[in-house]
Amino acid sequence: MIERTLVLIKPDGIKRGLVGKITSAFEDCGLKIVGMKLVSPSPEKVQEHYNADENWLRSVGEKSIKSAKERNEAINEDPIEIGKRIRSYLINYLANNPVIAMVLEGNNAIEIVRKIIGSTQPSKADPSTIRGKYSSDSYDLADSNKRAVRNLVHASEDKASAEREIKVWFNESELIQYSRSDEKEMYG
Ligand code: GDP
Ligand code: MG
Repeated sequence: MIERTLVLIKPDGIKRGLVGKITSAFEDCGLKIVGMKLVSPSPEKVQEHYNADENWLRSVGEKSIKSAKERNEAINEDPIEIGKRIRSYLINYLANNPVIAMVLEGNNAIEIVRKIIGSTQPSKADPSTIRGKYSSDSYDLADSNKRAVRNLVHASEDKASAEREIKVWFNESELIQYSRSDEKEMYG
């Protein structure tokens, strides 16, 4: 089904001159850009985007504990506390820095975009994905430097978060309807 998803090119993607390559990866797969802007978000805007949803805080914290265990590091901290710390790293990473927000539309756009960007930790992401191809960053390096993993892009994880996140960055009037010339070939 045709759906929409939110992508952010994070400041490392812009400062490293990777905007064209990242955007092409989505366009090449047939995804249509229906909204796009370069912004320098306020801390409040980034907080709204990474909202303090308890399930998300816990899942980020648990993921971090699991990878620490794999490195034989003992962690006694509460997952939610770890999630809150990572959220504060994310605010430092994105706020007052260049960020490109875009809305992509296409068949199964949410899942397809997550497949194209790859898994969260670039060091483990498949090399054919954006995160695996253009970065080698890892949780241990990022945690020891007290910063968020620099993985170039954000993409919505599911339908509910896509709908919420699109509204954080775009008004309805900023989303443009048009046809790509290859739509009939892809979807007809
Ligand atoms: P995503 O959906 O793949 O971006 O991953 P999450 O929603 O789980 O996490 C949001 C962002 O937080 C990631 O893209 C990373 O930039 C950062 N992050 C996630 N887990 C960790 C971690 O364990 N350590 C650090 N330093 N950053 C993390
Ligand atoms: Mg996420």
